[in-house]
Amino acid sequence: MTDDYDVVIVGASIAGCASAILFANLGARVALLEKHSGMDAYKVLCTHTLQPSCLPVMKTLGLLPLLEEAGAHGHVTHLWTKWGWIAPRSAPGEDPLPHGVNVRRQTLDPMLRRLAAETPGVDLRLGQNVNGLLEEDGRCTGVRVTANGVETRLTARLVVGADGRNSTVGALSGLPVRLSANNRLGFFAQYRGLPEDAPSRVWFLDPDTAFAFPNDDGITVVACSPNKEQHTSAFRGDLEGSFERFVRALPDAPRIDEAERVSKIVGTLDLPNVYRKPYGPGLALVGDAALATDPLWGVGCGWAFQSAQWLVDAVGGAVANQHDVLPGLAEYGKAHRAALDSHHKLMEDYSAVRPFNVFERLLLSAAARDDGAARHYYSFASRLIDVKQFASPGSLLRAARVNAFHRLRNGSARVNQI
Ligand SMILES: Cc1cc2nc3c(=O)[nH]c(=O)nc-3n(C[C@H](O)[C@H](O)[C@H](O)COP(=O)(O)OP(=O)(O)OC[C@H]3O[C@@H](n4cnc5c(N)ncnc54)[C@H](O)[C@@H]3O)c2cc1C
Repeated sequence: MTDDYDVVIVGASIAGCASAILFANLGARVALLEKHSGMDAYKVLCTHTLQPSCLPVMKTLGLLPLLEEAGAHGHVTHLWTKWGWIAPRSAPGEDPLPHGVNVRRQTLDPMLRRLAAETPGVDLRLGQNVNGLLEEDGRCTGVRVTANGVETRLTARLVVGADGRNSTVGALSGLPVRLSANNRLGFFAQYRGLPEDAPSRVWFLDPDTAFAFPNDDGITVVACSPNKEQHTSAFRGDLEGSFERFVRALPDAPRIDEAERVSKIVGTLDLPNVYRKPYGPGLALVGDAALATDPLWGVGCGWAFQSAQWLVDAVGGAVANQHDVLPGLAEYGKAHRAALDSHHKLMEDYSAVRPFNVFERLLLSAAARDDGAARHYYSFASRLIDVKQFASPGSLLRAARVNAFHRLRNGSARVNQI
């Protein structure tokens, strides 16, 4: 049996549901295939802080008011550094800083899946495991799907792999992939009873990191990413003790002993970075299927939303108007690379576990001492500007000036104070 669609999307999580809604809004007939059979399935391995960069897409999808209603927590993240806290705030008389959103995946994923299912033109099919690609003349023309032991074929003008970091579609397509080691562990747990009005906080202990993110339903996610070399055997041998000791030792630590832990401590000892070429003939990859970068930076969910938007911007017109999608796919590849390459390269480099380089020390120390520099850092961490803009000659100069004033005021000329 073969069904025909304009677009077949594999994976009904963030990237898949966002792509499905955006394609269908242009008039495309979309099959959205998900291997889990429950409407309420959600991704457990995620600390779900969403960066401000993805807010415009969430607005377009109509998701923001639903998230607000569900109690999602707007955030402007504060950052601990050895130079002090970076606490970004807007300049006097200016608009508030763009904020991100913290919302548990158990809230977000079902909400987004329902939104997709209710969008005219989207055919959400749960319990469908995609295990093969159809091909004609070197071009992907559809997928093979198994559900309840029965195999079906779905054909489409465009197949979209939104099936996460271990993407089956990516593997079957043979698109080039680059893997690199991440030399940090990642563990987290949910707590109830920590201050709900606290800002989202990140500790840059250089090289280890930790996080506390207030979320919906009074939950705060507390997380840590210690380096593997020093911490693997302790975390492997005594996860609970190692996790809690690590958190208690943080400067201005979240008071986990006065709160109730309401989840297991979950995480992973190994999470390599994965970068795939995001398109091929008749085929595109979005979200983690294209790029699963170090979770330390909390960017994957946002980029899953944004890559869906870039794809639909590039090929949506061709799909809806029955034109050739190939030129648009190359445009998508360019947009993806232009937006994410420099961010990912820096993240990949930092995931090898190195101390901050001289530029990072300069920019971060200035951000802890000066509101303008703090806003500049915040724009970068929010993924609203790229690496070149973050470390532009002008920004470095301004940071050097901030630090020079700081040294003058504090009577110290020690170089290691940057
Ligand atoms: C420890 C950890 C912490 C993280 N914390 C953050 C954070 O704080 N902020 C942030 O922005 N990002 C974070 N991330 C990253 C974030 O979780 C991912 O970037 C995001 O989930 C990517 O969304 P996606 O839709 O691309 O893929 P996924 O959410 O992984 O969804 C893939 C979907 O495809 C389905 N699927 C897979 N294979 C098939 C198949 N063969 N057939 C049919 N369906 C299939 C799956 O069931 C799933 O529903 C974290 C990641 C980790 C590991």
